[in-house]
Amino acid sequence: MDTKNKVNQNDTICDNFQNQVSLVLIRHKSMLDIMTKLDEYNARINRAIAKSVTYCGCISINATKQDFGNDSFENMQKKAETHVEGKICENCKDILEEEMGSYMFYLASLCNTLGMDLSDILEKEYDRIKTLGIYSLK
Ligand SMILES: [Zn+2]
Repeated sequence: MDTKNKVNQNDTICDNFQNQVSLVLIRHKSMLDIMTKLDEYNARINRAIAKSVTYCGCISINATKQDFGNDSFENMQKKAETHVEGKICENCKDILEEEMGSYMFYLASLCNTLGMDLSDILEKEYDRIKTLGIYSLK
């Protein structure tokens, strides 16, 4: 599959997802509910990662200072650490996928409420990071 078809397919999945979200959201349709649900699922993602470390143990986090010195951006990217050791297990991955999916549900709801297009947002961000590369400084 060429890149253009893949991009179009992703647009369709994104558009279908956003449309389906608009059809099923009833109970938390208020902007206040959407905003606080986004926060809730952000916290649930972080909690699931923490439980992967402290309860499951499939990963550990060994965080230290990111020491870049006066390196170039290219060297900074090579030296930057995730601080994650190990590999997320299938059970923890399933939990994280569910929490991330719910987060995306409410992100799509936010887009619907504000009349924004999720696939346009993704495409603009993709273009921005593709253009700026490591100079996007994220
Ligand atoms: Zn695990």
